Amino acid sequence: MEDIERHATAAWRGGADCVELRIDDFTDDPGRIAAFLESHDRRKWILTCRSITQGGASTAAPSDRAKLLLAARGRSRALIDFEYADFSAFSNGCRQLQWARAGSDGDTATGILSQHAFDGEPPDVAALLAAMAKIDRRIIPKVAYAPIDIAGCFPALDAMHAARTAVIAIAMDEAGLWTRVLARKFGTFGTYASLDDSCTTAAGQIDLATARGLYHWPSINAETRVFGVLGDPVAHSMGPRLFNGWFEQHGINAVYLPLRVSRERSCLSRFLDGCKDREWLDLGGFSVTIPHKEAMLKYVGSGADGLATSIGAANTVVAADKKWTAHNTDCYAAIDSLCAALGCDRGDLSGLSVDVLGCGGAARAVLAGLRAFGCCVTVYGRSPEKTCSVAQTFGATAKPWIQRAETSCEVLINATPIGMSSDEDSSPMPSASLERRRIVFDLIYNPLETKLLGDARSLGVATLNGLDMFVRQAAAQFEVWTGQMPDLDAARRIVMESLLQRQTGESSV
Ligand code: NAP
Repeated sequence: MEDIERHATAAWRGGADCVELRIDDFTDDPGRIAAFLESHDRRKWILTCRSITQGGASTAAPSDRAKLLLAARGRSRALIDFEYADFSAFSNGCRQLQWARAGSDGDTATGILSQHAFDGEPPDVAALLAAMAKIDRRIIPKVAYAPIDIAGCFPALDAMHAARTAVIAIAMDEAGLWTRVLARKFGTFGTYASLDDSCTTAAGQIDLATARGLYHWPSINAETRVFGVLGDPVAHSMGPRLFNGWFEQHGINAVYLPLRVSRERSCLSRFLDGCKDREWLDLGGFSVTIPHKEAMLKYVGSGADGLATSIGAANTVVAADKKWTAHNTDCYAAIDSLCAALGCDRGDLSGLSVDVLGCGGAARAVLAGLRAFGCCVTVYGRSPEKTCSVAQTFGATAKPWIQRAETSCEVLINATPIGMSSDEDSSPMPSASLERRRIVFDLIYNPLETKLLGDARSLGVATLNGLDMFVRQAAAQFEVWTGQMPDLDAARRIVMESLLQRQTGESSV
């Protein structure tokens, strides 16, 4: 009971409109819960005793769960959430399960019927919700399922968009995050958020502070435009922090979400086709990150601008109209970041010798910029054909990956993911080969100091991480989408603080 009171108080303080009380393993006297709920009856409550088969912890029979819930609700107005499968199997013969039809208080919701699916196949969400809603108009129907990937979220979004009454439709897991946040846009009953990471009740659930603070849940409405970063992985992206802050500062009604589009099963094209078919999503655009930049350019086709086409990769999509356009803001962001670190202008780069590691989307953007301003570039990749083709496209020299430590151009740029937060102990270069460089530039910004940069710094070589480039390319995206330029210094501070907080948090765990 003490936990219940403490957690509920924290939820109200955090801005929750309604608190779900989970009594799956409650063995105390339910009358104590009833007394508590009755004494806080001006608050909104959901009372749930989730069965093991539906993702909870209760092993009790349906009729025993129903009895427990009714006793714990007492005379309060708490909404009882009950499993739809058990309700439909037992409701005719079990008086305790008649709660959904009880009461005569007009249109006020009396409870929630819910169905959870964890096997990856989206159920027929609309049909399920309709069947539940038929039982009584005062029932709030809820469906939550684990989507196979982000494209598997469309049934939940379609159901929320089409619903004429309060419903709950959730795609779980990381890929389903947008269904949780956009629930507000579609005016549905609400979304579930945990108090913190230790209290999540379903995979992919965000916490209350993130829902309200990062995604500005209270300000989302039917007109909110939707932006996001699509890639795999995207959980580490600082994009939501930056763009949601900029939208708020500039008074733009929009939300920016991490959209995990996996590499498998042609997920990207299924996701993009699904977005195109749904104008009501009010999509504004996407940031595109690893590994989709090249595929995105192909997808947008003739809508790509000259720079993105010559680079062969798009990191920015404007998706406002039926005709999408694609752009590349990495190129000038990388060049301007390097110039700022070297204390020179773009024109002063002419003749600079540069080694570039990797030949993916970011490397191509960097190469295009370096060559456009007259640098002599050598590119190192692990695939000989790809490396030669990239080098030829941009007039650079191709060398095998194995030879990367044998030269020492003035500038070394790492455009591979080696050393990212998931692989922090790795460096793409033996440290001895970093001597005599003028600067080592790692495009990675999380962590702020990769092993590569740490090694360079300990040899007294100047270093540059990817933070400034990240902020510049993001600001250019914001300008493409909104016509407004955000404050770069403030953005650098925000990203830096968030990364440091994350690193301290991670290391103290
Ligand atoms: P990408 O398109 O997937 O390209 C990655 C490149 O790295 C590919 O050439 C890949 O080789 C190579 N690579 C990956 N693992 C390797 C390994 N173990 N050994 C050798 N080569 C390896 O990714 P991207 O979009 O270019 O991004 C690359 C990095 O830049 C990422 O860390 C990303 O976070 C960073 N980035 C930062 C910014 C910023 O604003 N700071 C912007 C863009 C990118 P294969 O071609 O053989 O697969």
